[in-house]
Amino acid sequence: MTERIPCKTEGCKATILPTTAAKTGGYCMPCHQEQERQKRQAYIEKHRKTVDLYEGLTDPVDILKIMHAPKQYDPLIQYAPYPLSKEQLYVTLTTDQAARMLSFAEDLLKEDDADKTDIAENILLSLVCYRNDNIAAVLPKLLEQGIYHPAILFKDATPEIRDHLIRQVEWDDDNRNHILLILGWIGDSEVINQFREWRSNPPKWVDKLYVAPEIYALDAGWELTSDGGRRDLINGMNYAIEKAKEPKHSRTEAHAADFLTNSISTCPWCSGKLITLMDVNANHSSLAYLNLQTERLRVETCERCGCFGTIYMDLDRDGVPTWSRLNREPDYLRIFDEEDYGYDPAAWNLTLSDEPRSPFYAAIWTLSQPDSQIGGHPSWVQDAEYPECPCCHKRMRFIGQVDWADFDNYGEGIFYMFLCAEDMMTATLYQQS
Ligand SMILES: [Zn+2]
Ligand SMILES: [Zn+2]
Ligand SMILES: [Zn+2]
Repeated sequence: MTERIPCKTEGCKATILPTTAAKTGGYCMPCHQEQERQKRQAYIEKHRKTVDLYEGLTDPVDILKIMHAPKQYDPLIQYAPYPLSKEQLYVTLTTDQAARMLSFAEDLLKEDDADKTDIAENILLSLVCYRNDNIAAVLPKLLEQGIYHPAILFKDATPEIRDHLIRQVEWDDDNRNHILLILGWIGDSEVINQFREWRSNPPKWVDKLYVAPEIYALDAGWELTSDGGRRDLINGMNYAIEKAKEPKHSRTEAHAADFLTNSISTCPWCSGKLITLMDVNANHSSLAYLNLQTERLRVETCERCGCFGTIYMDLDRDGVPTWSRLNREPDYLRIFDEEDYGYDPAAWNLTLSDEPRSPFYAAIWTLSQPDSQIGGHPSWVQDAEYPECPCCHKRMRFIGQVDWADFDNYGEGIFYMFLCAEDMMTATLYQQS
């Protein structure tokens, strides 16, 4: 039997065969591999270059084209980031520059190449979401290529495309789901009539769907009412919730808006403190449409139990929230561990942006933008879900959302906030990937 020799690394207990020792210079395989890894790392650090792909560029269209292009991964290259994010740049484009991005996307689509089509889709989504631009001109090209998704791209489709899709949904089993979502996003009087018609006389293909056709409208932020009309569940005014530039005590706007502060109330399910997701002046332009009689609109929830189900709060005449007696404890609530909450949202010092943004800015969760906002369209991580008001049994309106990932590197998941203004009741829901 061959005698094994000890690995040369101090403190390593491994023994190795002489043949291994000859190859590695006397080290065991794991130690040898670690040495190689360190050598490689040192080499990379010594030789790594920072490459600034944006150097000398001033035209935002050129800059965006580079941002959209896939970057070759090379450990020896570190790419210098551009000072503005993609979505920030999109917002600054002039009409002419946005039109150039649109025709660039059109050219990419013509190449009929999967990677280029992905880039084109991303550009189109950015134009639609961040700028609310009308991209109807490229929609025939998308349909020609069999692209029906994401449905929001089609929200400004022409009547010709709408009528074409209303006919197609009758026979196209493969794309029916996507087409119904698209029709929801178009959401004009013809679509409303069609949804009403399908509700009164369900076509044969309804059996193949998981939900009734008119439920597809929820994805686009509205519902078909019992009398067959359109009721919007979202509001177009949209303001970002962002980190405040000044410390809280020096802010002068008389606390127009506060987010993620500790409440004095306690959760009856887990006995933890509730969190105030938002506390905003009810006259702020993002909320004025609600015509509230209270000075503030405050939404509270339990940060822990709220991840497992809807939490309703009653608002009294002064807008002070209390835990609703109509809350139903979920069957499943995890045992909470203080260590799960390694951050303190109350320390984030958040405020509302001064400038409104596109209603659809955060509508696609998988794009790169921060999602936290008052108003606008929700960033559904899962399916669209509007809680029912336990008093009047109508769907509650979406009033805003907080995405933990916007403020904490380890944070994830979104709290969605809803209101029934008639019954002065708020609700929260939570979704994560
Ligand atoms: Zn070793
Ligand atoms: Zn709780
Ligand atoms: Zn209600």
